[in-house]
Amino acid sequence: MVVQSGMVFAPSPDSESFFRSESLPEYALWKSGEEKRIPFSFDLEVTARCNNACRQCYINLGASDPVAKRQELSLVEIQGIVHQAVDLGALWCLVTGGEPLLRQDFSDIYLMLKKQGLLVSVFTNACLVTPEHVKLFQNYPPRDIEVTVYGISAQTYEKVTRRPGSYDAFRRGLDLLLEGSVKVRLKAMALPLTSFPFIYWYAVIGVPLFLAAMLTARVIGLDRGQMGLTIKGLPFQLFFGLVGAQALLEILSGRQPPMEMPDGSISPSWRMGQP
Ligand code: SF4
Repeated sequence: MVVQSGMVFAPSPDSESFFRSESLPEYALWKSGEEKRIPFSFDLEVTARCNNACRQCYINLGASDPVAKRQELSLVEIQGIVHQAVDLGALWCLVTGGEPLLRQDFSDIYLMLKKQGLLVSVFTNACLVTPEHVKLFQNYPPRDIEVTVYGISAQTYEKVTRRPGSYDAFRRGLDLLLEGSVKVRLKAMALPLTSFPFIYWYAVIGVPLFLAAMLTARVIGLDRGQMGLTIKGLPFQLFFGLVGAQALLEILSGRQPPMEMPDGSISPSWRMGQP
């Protein structure tokens, strides 16, 4: 089902038209939000530190990195931002990191957000969840806790997190949340950890994206021309859609795409000017 400013697109029982559209009730909130440009939701990255060191991650400084720690916003500073957001009409806050549970004052931050009347979501790897966190979430329920699953065995999980023991910690934390009936959403990511060359992933990802774009165009009533898919431009569109500009640069440079190295690390991504 697709919801688009006041309309909902849902699968149709009528095989003639694949989708049907229905008008949604005109909530005053949506209208005033649009008119006044209200930031209904905002994200707080409360730390750049993490207990894991996932190979795909861009925000995983060491758990006790002193510089990263010093640069974190204090509870008072966060409170100031939150007050401003709430004054502007914010309703929902996502707390993320790094790993937000690394912060000693995580509970204070969380409680402060709840006391502002916000819906609160938390992104965590669950490794550091304690019974105290569970109690906190039971007393002040989050909108949801989103936990990323990096693998379904210690071997696959820790190949991503590069932290021995992290799989057991994740399972323990997740079990605590589930046993405490805390609302948890699980999510996962697809990572190229085998020797499958990166370049083929562009096609693997590109084809569904291309089809999704075509489907979306149909749903929102655009024709191919309006999507830029003209006959003349088609070869060009297909080439870049399926292979990707970065892949082209990789081909031209003759550089090896990022691959898993024999020692288990991953080679750096292709970047301009880097060896
Ligand atoms: S657990 Fe999340 S924040 Fe931590 S290193 Fe992995 S992806 Fe990054």
